[in-house]
Amino acid sequence: MATLYLVSTPIGNLEDMTLRGLRVLSEVRLIAAEDTRHSRRLLQHYGISRPLLSLHEHNEQARIDQVLETLDQGHDVALISDAGTPAISDPGFRLVRACLRGGHRVVPVPGASALLAALVASGMPSDRFLFLGFPPRKPAARKQWLSEVKEEPGVLIMYESPRRLPSLLRDIAEVLGPSRPLVVARELTKRYETFWRGSVRDALTVFAEAPRGEVVVLVGGAPKEAPRDLPSPVREVLHDLMLAGISASQAARLVAKLTGLPRRRVYQAALAEAAGKHAEDKQVEPGT
Ligand code: SAM
Repeated sequence: MATLYLVSTPIGNLEDMTLRGLRVLSEVRLIAAEDTRHSRRLLQHYGISRPLLSLHEHNEQARIDQVLETLDQGHDVALISDAGTPAISDPGFRLVRACLRGGHRVVPVPGASALLAALVASGMPSDRFLFLGFPPRKPAARKQWLSEVKEEPGVLIMYESPRRLPSLLRDIAEVLGPSRPLVVARELTKRYETFWRGSVRDALTVFAEAPRGEVVVLVGGAPKEAPRDLPSPVREVLHDLMLAGISASQAARLVAKLTGLPRRRVYQAALAEAAGKHAEDKQVEPGT
């Protein structure tokens, strides 16, 4: 069975090419590449000379047939992008799907990717994150896109061109709020690699002008709801229900259904309500 290899290439520092990646690239029959001129120079650097096939966003569908033909003949093919891991904000997904449908093996050869490099050194929690790729370019669509992830508790990771960074930050401040922590990872693995760490509010000033180089933007996840942070009429209904002997989970289910608020949020408030009541009971107990 022939194999399509997805080979990661460096995102700046040429030493970040894996030994396995180099071996695979020198052994395959064909290398599909986003920009063949760029990739030819990269491969030359490693002393690799294999036939290249251009496969980019605009011709991916048409080139899939050529790759499938090569695989059908029993020859292995590699896919690389201009930088980093193919199919991550780069072409590849449609090719992978077509190869799997065609009964071929698809094998990743992992290596550099800007999102993970940025995350692990950002200082933000790395146990839960949401990779969002590039934001929409139009402001209205971008705001809508941000509002869809407003409640996400994990770190939000975005790619963006430095030119659009100032306007993205303005929208982040408006939609997600100015207080969240934010990291801009710039020129990763390159000579002028920098990590700026601060708040959304401070980033607006620091990046009022577009920086130079490539950037990854990381925004802290949604802050945990303050348990009592429900509109006061809703809190009162919750309070009354629980006073009438309804359990916290039942009261939360009812209130969430009636108000459309997230059940978890209401439940947290109900638990806080129950804990508060318990504390109050305790306070009054001794004297009564
Ligand atoms: N496939 C690549 C990967 O695995 O990271 C991403 C390709 S995407 C077209 C290019 C975007 O990735 C850039 O606009 C930038 O947001 C980010 N990026 C790539 N290289 C970077 C670097 N050295 N430093 C910071 N960001 C980088």
